[in-house]
Amino acid sequence: MTFKSLKITRPDDWHVHLREGNLLKAVINHSTRVNQRCIVMPNLNDPITTTLKGIDYIKKINLLSNNNFSPLLPCYLTEDLDLIDFSKGLDENIFIGAKLYPNEATTNSKYGISSTEKIYPALEILEKKDKILLIHGEKVDSEIDIFDREKYYIDQELSLIRKTFPNLRIVLEHVSSKYGAEYVNYSPNIAGTITPHHMMLTKKDVFLDKSINPHHFCMPVVKNEEDLIALRNFATSGNKKFFLGTDSAPHPIEFKVPNLKSKPGIFSAPCSIEIYASIFDEEKSLDNLEKFCSINGPKFYKLPVNADQIELIEERWTVPEYTIHQEIKIKNFMGGKELNWKLKA
Ligand SMILES: [Zn+2]
Repeated sequence: MTFKSLKITRPDDWHVHLREGNLLKAVINHSTRVNQRCIVMPNLNDPITTTLKGIDYIKKINLLSNNNFSPLLPCYLTEDLDLIDFSKGLDENIFIGAKLYPNEATTNSKYGISSTEKIYPALEILEKKDKILLIHGEKVDSEIDIFDREKYYIDQELSLIRKTFPNLRIVLEHVSSKYGAEYVNYSPNIAGTITPHHMMLTKKDVFLDKSINPHHFCMPVVKNEEDLIALRNFATSGNKKFFLGTDSAPHPIEFKVPNLKSKPGIFSAPCSIEIYASIFDEEKSLDNLEKFCSINGPKFYKLPVNADQIELIEERWTVPEYTIHQEIKIKNFMGGKELNWKLKA
């Protein structure tokens, strides 16, 4: 039996939730073990809406990580953002861009956007400064089926943003549908991140025979087989519009179970690079893994590609069931299951 090994340029994670406090301490090493840079999401309990909050959060992350690791932070857009402060944060590279959460679309999005027109002045600043707009692309409306939120956001909001700001560069985050992936593929100035779980799960993995699996509940919700196949095809094709963004989103286990009040989010950081490698292997596309993980992202963000490499080896291992740190216990995605690829320590 021959075992494969693969060296690729060190990856970056263009969408991850590192959280704060003890939760940050519990999860950060799982992201820094592999990535040089992470776009860290600003939806903390007190969202990062000012440069001061941004500087403070970056400092907290840097205190817990090694010198080589760089957290990159988008400003959390609100309808009453201080635009002078926002401009300054972009100029001083405290903010890499800005994150648009539709109101109540996911965890800590209650300060998010209800009326897109109200943030046009902020989008104009982003477009002028050539900074990235990151979008959680789901239209939240009680009339709209939860599985169609991405499509409605694209048709009703995103297309209007693009018409109004044609030069604004946009990342449609955690693309979750065939419709969304095709939209990204044919639209100029847009790229998309794809999570491991949207390429592993369909709604059958959430809605089981007689119960619901809260550990597979995330936003956007995982969809149908044809969506999963489309995402796999775009990710593994080498297409430069798609790149790695895990959306690893830890919640302590008591916020996932019991599932009546389950919070959305899947914590994949302990094995995300290994899942991506396994998917690319299954799709016979290991040659394109480096493009997806390490090249397409920095090119779109106009940042240098990392200088060093990581090595992945073909080796069966079992993902630990939980990540535990002091009183915090988090269920790992794929916990207890076997994977074929492992990061060489
Ligand atoms: Zn997210």
